[in-house]
Amino acid sequence: MRTQLAAADAQQLILDAALPLPSETCATVDAQGRVLTEPVVSRRTLPPFDVSAMDGYAVRSGDLACASASAPVALSVAFEVAAGGAADRTLAVGEVARIFTGAPIPPGADAVVRQEDVAREASHALFSASVRAGEHLRCAGEDVRAGEMVLDAGVRLGPAALGMLASLGRTHVAVHQRPRVAILSGGDELIEPDGDPTGGRIVSSNSYSIAAQCREVGAEPIYLGIARDHPDELERFVRAGLGAHVLVTSAGVSVGDRDYVRPVLEKLGCEIAFWGVTIKPGFPLVFGRFTPRSPLGSSGGGPLVFGLPGNPVSAMVTFEEFVRPALRKLSGHALWFRPRIDAVLGERLRKAAGRLHLVRVRLERRDGRVVATSTGNQSSGVLRSMALAQGLLVFPADATELSAGAVVQVQVLDEDFLAAADAGL
Ligand code: AMP
Ligand code: MG
Repeated sequence: MRTQLAAADAQQLILDAALPLPSETCATVDAQGRVLTEPVVSRRTLPPFDVSAMDGYAVRSGDLACASASAPVALSVAFEVAAGGAADRTLAVGEVARIFTGAPIPPGADAVVRQEDVAREASHALFSASVRAGEHLRCAGEDVRAGEMVLDAGVRLGPAALGMLASLGRTHVAVHQRPRVAILSGGDELIEPDGDPTGGRIVSSNSYSIAAQCREVGAEPIYLGIARDHPDELERFVRAGLGAHVLVTSAGVSVGDRDYVRPVLEKLGCEIAFWGVTIKPGFPLVFGRFTPRSPLGSSGGGPLVFGLPGNPVSAMVTFEEFVRPALRKLSGHALWFRPRIDAVLGERLRKAAGRLHLVRVRLERRDGRVVATSTGNQSSGVLRSMALAQGLLVFPADATELSAGAVVQVQVLDEDFLAAADAGL
């Protein structure tokens, strides 16, 4: 087991251990945000036939070569084609067909004239301009041709891709499994939110924040509950989480007499890769895994295990930095980290050298630049400063001071901040 790892080394070690999960079949309607495991090749041509893009008249463009405002051309309206219908004969010279948007173009026609540009007189239509062949047609195959690859493996499915799959008749798709994350909180002082908060008890807020962090990244949280500070009880809870892809515990990973997470994991055969990352908040993070060699690991191995620190901010920040990238990789994503932006520091910050600090900051756009300001008390127990944070400012390990006005790096947590100002059209 290694100790006191630099944050980047810890991330690397975790990402090396987190392999994309196997494929499963998913109903397309439920596949929003999932990542394809195989390319989607179309068996269909879309549109399948030439289609009218307008309500109007299907014409043979040659018939209108001499049409002008001063010498309009009258042509006979031979039949009508509606969306969902089909022409039962070819359009002859001198004929036009009444047609509607989405209807197949009759054989013989090669353009559509909008109804706004046509004067209708009983069985005839009057055209006062020529038309280019191909005008207002959606040609067969202009979207997709049969045999073409439409979406590649590794693509994250968004609304347009799902609509595309639907039009290809793909009701099911092959995607990476969603990581299932077993979550347990540990501590004699912990109660659920509706419990009695007297007598030294506090609400297990981590159960809520960690589950939400899982959902936010598309993973499925499985809440195991609160384990009391007793090795046997903790062991029971850990065993209950062994069927998940990832097990996340919070608290009990430090050096206190009642910090049983590490010994219990070791007893159950978990290979602890490291304990302690030189960051603040979040130093006592534990990472391990149940491998096929572990007595309790299945043939495919068991869960990756993250023992997060108990303090609410430490738990959330270590999730952000170490669990979230792993969950992204397990889900099949190619990009694992939050976007980082340059920001101007709004105030001076100081710290001791040695640990990387992740400072909770508010972000604000001012004169075309982003200004970052601390959200206040940076104690790892002050959850409010995390609730206010739009980003985590990276205060490098060796640095001791960042002056006001310095350009700093910020990991952006608030996706709404990255969206430009709410401007509509
Ligand atoms: P520990 O790691 O057990 O020493 O816990 C560190 C601090 O985090 C203590 O103040 C705990 O009360 C607090 N804490 C532990 N677990 C949770 C939790 N699930 N929710 C909120 N705070 C917690
Ligand atoms: Mg404790």
